Amino acid sequence: MTQDIRIIGGGLAGSEAAWQLAQRGFNVRLSEMRGGGGSTAAHLTDALAELVCSNSFRSDDDERNAVGLLHHEMRRMDSLVMQAGEAARVPAGSALAVDRDVFSAHVQDALDAHPNVNVVREVVEELPANGATIVATGPLTGSALAESITRETGSDRLAFFDAIAPIIHRDSIDMDICWMASRWDKGSGADGEGKDYINCPMTKEQYLAFHQGLMEGEKTGFKEWEASTPYFDGCMPIEVMAERGVETLRYGPMKPVGLDNPHTATAEFPQGRWPYAVVQLRQDNKLGTLWNMVGFQTKLKHGEQVRLFRTIPGLENAEFARLGGLHRNTFINSPALLDRQLRLKSAPHVRFAGQITGCEGYVESAAVGLMAGLMAATELAGEDWVAPPPTSACGALLAHITGDAEAEHFQPMNVNFGLFPPLHEVSKKQRKEAYTMRAKEDFGAWLAKLERIPA
Ligand SMILES: Cc1cc2nc3c(=O)[nH]c(=O)nc-3n(C[C@H](O)[C@H](O)[C@H](O)COP(=O)(O)OP(=O)(O)OC[C@H]3O[C@@H](n4cnc5c(N)ncnc54)[C@H](O)[C@@H]3O)c2cc1C
Repeated sequence: MTQDIRIIGGGLAGSEAAWQLAQRGFNVRLSEMRGGGGSTAAHLTDALAELVCSNSFRSDDDERNAVGLLHHEMRRMDSLVMQAGEAARVPAGSALAVDRDVFSAHVQDALDAHPNVNVVREVVEELPANGATIVATGPLTGSALAESITRETGSDRLAFFDAIAPIIHRDSIDMDICWMASRWDKGSGADGEGKDYINCPMTKEQYLAFHQGLMEGEKTGFKEWEASTPYFDGCMPIEVMAERGVETLRYGPMKPVGLDNPHTATAEFPQGRWPYAVVQLRQDNKLGTLWNMVGFQTKLKHGEQVRLFRTIPGLENAEFARLGGLHRNTFINSPALLDRQLRLKSAPHVRFAGQITGCEGYVESAAVGLMAGLMAATELAGEDWVAPPPTSACGALLAHITGDAEAEHFQPMNVNFGLFPPLHEVSKKQRKEAYTMRAKEDFGAWLAKLERIPA
């Protein structure tokens, strides 16, 4: 079989990309290292699309939930992962959970049986110098290939650790308590001034109680193979910093100096005073809908994060787009390295897909694999690619990783409504339904255009 395209990695993303290309008549060589002399610390089998941890694809509600909407869009695009999910479904309320063995077997059988797919068990150690390629090697990419990616992209562009600080929806922050400012008023504005950060003020009592909460909060442990990967200074968990002394955070991420709080303005101090401590939030996406808690990467358990972080003044009603975490994860700085079609700017014959692009989760990884497959099919057919609308789940996720996220602080992201162009005119209560209704309409119109790809 002559090969039109090579896909490296037979996980969620690589399998989905292979299916989309093969269904459109292109011949795919799918290289998977498991069963060919390679392994990862998390996979237990040689099966394609193995689920390495939970068996859940999260909410299947396509009317009020962003990941449910992503399911819906993928189903409309003949997703193999969603077909397998349906075939392997086990009872889980409004979530889609699967029997992991049935799921992987379904994906494997479909690809093995497809006349246009050649599954080859081999460890790929170098980025191919030419020929259409999709790299979908996931969070645990083999080390030789990771080095090759580093050589191509630059050593500061491939991360091996995911140190995630919580991200909060902007419209859930109480600006009667918080205020916008940059330290010493030095911001990114044209005049060097600006109000780039949202600042949450703390009194001494609030700070001490918060410090205590960090010390006592229940943490998740490292997996054995993660524990041997050292922290970088820049991603030290907030609770580890807190353990170093009660004042450490006040000289680190919670430093109040240079931050006059206008809510405390008096005749004597018309600018206001510095609070005892401050929590700062930095804009995380171009839309300005998501804000990142600066320096708050943490291994606190998720429930504990919500409880403790809502004690921060101004964040009492915070809605979290994602919570903090810290784990082994190989991902590239996609907003800087990739074009809007997931191609490496420096080597456009190579596309990236799946978690290595900086999306996070089984469903998101498969969705980005699906999109990479469609983009490659369009290119191989000599057609022009039309991106899915940014109002859809696929479009919003793609836009985020290919340029809308802030490259300098890029961290992996789940799909969530904070990535969608906002609908301020709709009441907060009805917004989720409004997002999904708009998405379905726009996505349907886009799908009609896709029919131009030869089937
Ligand atoms: C320990 C762990 C637990 C996770 N738990 C969850 C969870 O519970 N829920 C969730 O939604 N997400 C979870 N994730 C995140 C994630 O979404 C999954 O990792 C998902 O499988 C990513 O899909 P992918 O296709 O990008 O990568 P993978 O599914 O990992 O697929 C990549 C494939 O590439 C192969 N490969 C790697 N390097 C090479 C090479 N050099 N040559 C050939 N083949 C290669 C690998 O063997 C693998 O089969 C977890 C991640 C990890 C690491």
